[in-house]
Amino acid sequence: MCEDPGENRSLIVVVSGPGGVGKGTVVAELLRQYPSEVWLSRSWTTREQRPGEADDAYVFVSREAFEQRIQDGGFLEHAEFLDNYYGTPIPEATPGKVQILEIDVQGARQVIAQDLDCLLIFLEAPSAAEQEARLRHRGDPEHKVAQRLAKAQEEATAGVELGAHPIVNVKIEDTVKEMYQVIRSALESR
Ligand code: 5GP
Repeated sequence: MCEDPGENRSLIVVVSGPGGVGKGTVVAELLRQYPSEVWLSRSWTTREQRPGEADDAYVFVSREAFEQRIQDGGFLEHAEFLDNYYGTPIPEATPGKVQILEIDVQGARQVIAQDLDCLLIFLEAPSAAEQEARLRHRGDPEHKVAQRLAKAQEEATAGVELGAHPIVNVKIEDTVKEMYQVIRSALESR
């Protein structure tokens, strides 16, 4: 475990992977287990809040507000994903912990291009059937499920190209354990 949280100051861990792979659940569990070591950056989006989705899942904003922030240079990265904007605001203060970004591969590419100290983890579903079941379960409309499944293959190819560390999310406990180990090794090899 970290003796000195300050040692983690500048590591950014980008967690990417196709929709329905369980990124949100895995990241939430990582935060629950290691609150003094990691923090999650809350993204802005122009997408509508899903029924039952937490109010703080994102900062939900209009396209105008998002575009204004782009103009003001207020995003570390941003991308358009299935007709909505998503972006990581530049943090006002970094709390001296590993910063987790749960973002798509376009955003991952932008973070890598900035030459920041970052580690890229790509989560994969155990199977396409499992992923489809997870997408349906969370209440996306049918046409969105189909769009997200079509996008999944594209994202998997990009994950490999970017040299991401792949983790197949079979059991959440195992995925979180592996993710934490990968983060620790990245910190130790700096
Ligand atoms: P969802 O609509 O399912 O919440 O998210 C759609 C996709 O956008 C997911 O792949 C998610 O990881 C990604 N995403 C969420 N926040 C951000 C962000 O701030 N930047 C980028 N580039 N992608 C994001």
